Amino acid sequence: MTTTASVDLTIRDITATSADGVCTTDLLTAPWDVDVSPGYGPGASMDDAIPAATPRQGELPAEYREASNEELDHRIRAAKKTLGDRVVVLGHFYQRDEVVQYADYVGDSFQLANAAKARTDAEAIVFCGVHFMAETADLLSGADQRVILPNLAAGCSMADMANIDQVEECWEQLAEVYGTEPDADGRVPVIPVTYMNSSAAIKGFCGRNGGIVCTSSNAESVLEWAFERGQRVLFFPDQHLGRNTAKHMGVSLEQMPLWNPARPLGGNGEAELQNARVILWQGFCSVHKRFTTTQIKKARQDDANVRVIVHPECPMDVVDAADEYGSTDYITKAIAGATSPTTFAIGTEINLVQRLAAQHPQHTIYCLDPIVCPCSTMYRIHPGYLAWVLERLIAGVVENRIEVSPGVAEPARVALERMLAAKPKG
Ligand code: SF4
Repeated sequence: MTTTASVDLTIRDITATSADGVCTTDLLTAPWDVDVSPGYGPGASMDDAIPAATPRQGELPAEYREASNEELDHRIRAAKKTLGDRVVVLGHFYQRDEVVQYADYVGDSFQLANAAKARTDAEAIVFCGVHFMAETADLLSGADQRVILPNLAAGCSMADMANIDQVEECWEQLAEVYGTEPDADGRVPVIPVTYMNSSAAIKGFCGRNGGIVCTSSNAESVLEWAFERGQRVLFFPDQHLGRNTAKHMGVSLEQMPLWNPARPLGGNGEAELQNARVILWQGFCSVHKRFTTTQIKKARQDDANVRVIVHPECPMDVVDAADEYGSTDYITKAIAGATSPTTFAIGTEINLVQRLAAQHPQHTIYCLDPIVCPCSTMYRIHPGYLAWVLERLIAGVVENRIEVSPGVAEPARVALERMLAAKPKG
């Protein structure tokens, strides 16, 4: 097999001989073939239920669908040259290499939103990521900047697991259980905390209700901030990040009930809710859910000195069995900081893992999941869409603009600003 950072090439190499090493041969399907069908597309989150209100991508013009990779490469580079500083292209860590190669900045969602904010000269920000990331870039960028998502169908199945109507309904039920009055120390009954991987509407909900946003890098300091102001926390949408972080802070599992939005009181009794310190929304990332303790055991059998690092979106037993856990930023820095050749088994999305392996040939770096199964929504961004939005910009047309309405944007920014003010520990 070719040693490459490209997951696309890896998938083609594997499927040329057998389909055993990939989660679905649908990965070979062109993304425009699935734009019309209701689903997240081939990859790790394809089995999740896509909400009816999810935006649909219109048909990509034939000239982009039919163009060869070489032609698209030529057209994207030429368009970027013509647009110059008028455009900035952002590429998420989990994006395919065939797209990342055109990015002016590569990083996690928050790093990229800040990169967009710093580029005040760019009138258009093309975000090669997923929908909530483009919304965050719109929240943080200037009023005259336009944020573009090359394929509107690139959502995030985890973010879509908490919609605003369900969250409002949950909030009303919690108010009935806890009331709304602060205790003797001035702490309100519940502080809502949302992971960055959520819609702008949820961030706005947090801003309106005394809550805050967190990332996987600062979740612990954000929870400390919340516990100073509230008796308990409602954490969404990722139960695993919430559980792993709160557990590390000493909160017991009995004090972390799960909230199923389809059931009254989230499927809990009043006594459980009264005892709660962190109420976990029943959401998850389908990419990180794939990692298991069996994979970690196998990695240790193969090499007793292996260093296992997983993302905190992984289930608790996986995080507990790993040597370390941390955000994508933590993982990239841990590998960059290793001074002697090391074997790393990594529990995060395959595009980042293969890129890190290519960037650090002195180490052995591999994905814990032996099956190649990229984030299906990231996978919706293909160079064809990038070429299309860039060439339309040259023609004076802003396609696929992501714009958060002012009524949502204002409180969402409040929640983000609270996060920036909540300093990390140490
Ligand atoms: S990796 Fe998971 S959380 Fe990230 S965009 Fe994909 S589905 Fe969403």
